[in-house]
Amino acid sequence: MENRIVKLDPRSMSVKTKKTASDAEQISRLRASQSPIAISLTRCPTWTSLDPLQFKGYWDNNATGILLNNGSTAYFTFDTSARPTLSGGPLLGEYIFEQMHFHWSVDDFTGCEHVLDGHGYAAECHFVHYNSKYESLEAAVGHPDGLAVVGFLLEAVFAPNPRFDMLVEGLEHIKKNESVFHLTSESLAWIARDDLHEGSYVTYKGSLTTPPYTECVTWIIYEKPIWIGFEQLGLLRQLEGPNSQPIERNVRPTQRHPPGHSVIYVKQVKAKL
Ligand SMILES: [Zn+2]
Repeated sequence: MENRIVKLDPRSMSVKTKKTASDAEQISRLRASQSPIAISLTRCPTWTSLDPLQFKGYWDNNATGILLNNGSTAYFTFDTSARPTLSGGPLLGEYIFEQMHFHWSVDDFTGCEHVLDGHGYAAECHFVHYNSKYESLEAAVGHPDGLAVVGFLLEAVFAPNPRFDMLVEGLEHIKKNESVFHLTSESLAWIARDDLHEGSYVTYKGSLTTPPYTECVTWIIYEKPIWIGFEQLGLLRQLEGPNSQPIERNVRPTQRHPPGHSVIYVKQVKAKL
């Protein structure tokens, strides 16, 4: 892997208030690490000047998709020509949504991949996108600016979260390895909350958390977790792998931060009307 030299001192970039066109460019030049990582929010430089993230056409496009048990996770992708797009924030240009999948474990605290301030969660959901300047996800993986993955931490609570109902119905039908269930784009609507445009997140340059672990990902991890009911979570844990046994754990352990690696804590500022 090419050794990209970064001349930025993250401490000098703290608490930027004046918007400059180069915010996303500066992030794009940061050194990449292996993912996931444990992040201490208080040690991250805080930026408030990035453009708001723009999620377009995820749950309101009347499109249909499939939820698939691929033997290692539950995976949603569109089976129509729907192409939701993500832009803004730390991203240069537009990224096209490809798929959403989950990570989990046997307990409620080790199912997340990223760890914020030492706090573990029951599960983590990843929305995977590729840069629209490349032809496909496969083509994009070979480039440092190839992918953008948005991560949501899921916190187990007693009461079911009705926003997951459609997805949960799908999970009930894909218990067996390689089984498929058809869902509409509305099953992604659980991410539609004010926090999407107003909530804080951390961003850094990292890697895939599954082989081949390529360092091609701009990570965006929301700070505030989303609630999921114990029973809803149980459906993830019942999904079976190729050996017909439940998939107990599909989480990569946290990796070391390489020297000079930076994670930026972003406070989204409401767009002025
Ligand atoms: Zn993932």
